[in-house]
Amino acid sequence: MHKLFDLSGRVALVTGANTGLGQAIAVALAEAGADIVVVGRSDPADTGERVRSVGRRFHAIGADLALPGQSEAVVAQAIAAFSRLDILVNNAGTIHRADAIDVTEEDWDTVVDTNLKAAFFLSQAAARHMLDHGGGKIINIASLLSFQGGIRVPAYTASKSGIAGLTHALAAEWAAHGINVNAIAPGYFATNNTAALRSDPVREPEILARIPAGRWGSPGDLAGAAVFLAGSASNYVHGVVLPVDGGWLAR
Ligand code: NAP
Repeated sequence: MHKLFDLSGRVALVTGANTGLGQAIAVALAEAGADIVVVGRSDPADTGERVRSVGRRFHAIGADLALPGQSEAVVAQAIAAFSRLDILVNNAGTIHRADAIDVTEEDWDTVVDTNLKAAFFLSQAAARHMLDHGGGKIINIASLLSFQGGIRVPAYTASKSGIAGLTHALAAEWAAHGINVNAIAPGYFATNNTAALRSDPVREPEILARIPAGRWGSPGDLAGAAVFLAGSASNYVHGVVLPVDGGWLAR
């Protein structure tokens, strides 16, 4: 049974893994046996230390994923690092809070290019490799706002709703070729992404009161879903957007 969740010998590329959910996912995949490549703008030294401490190899690539034309080079560097690529986690993301009436084109582009466009082109570049090497696993990080409208985050909601659609589209196209494309939709987690919400004296208690589990998620709560979708346990799972949300959507 444990082989279903064993990632020994696999290589995972995780975007935005210096902190938060991406870091927790990278460490969980390493604990399950995978070597880890990360890509992002900030120094991921802490993640590297944690990955190496469980005996896995670690490689970091510096790139701003909001900029165009990055994906092919990032995936090529990831493959070059450990000579294979089995798992891609499109986690890097950003959020901009403003009334819809005030959102600028620049704000929109930064959010949608980082959260959605980069995820597509990284998936495309990874799939070109995976299609030639017997398949792989692509895990997109969606959101509750893949299902709901949210409050004052229209570009973010559009990007995460787009991620759900993209997950379905790529899953349907690549399932026959041994690539599983799925997504995890985290609920409200305590990371930099939600720092403004957690320090808002009105919104924080409102959110907490609506979570059936009675607490905010902590990044390690995503470990099980990530390892499941990265391992052979999920080989017949395609196009799912899996909420890990303390019951938020069930309410
Ligand atoms: P976070 O702590 O803000 O982490 C975001 C990560 O994305 C960081 O590593 C960041 O690195 C990276 N990133 C952002 N813009 C980038 C760019 N242009 N190029 C490269 N890397 C970039 O937030 P988080 O909560 O862990 O978010 C991780 C993912 O989960 C995001 O997709 C987010 O939308 C999603 N999510 C979070 C929650 C939540 O409650 N926290 C809920 C649902 C979904 P640098 O900025 O340092 O480069």
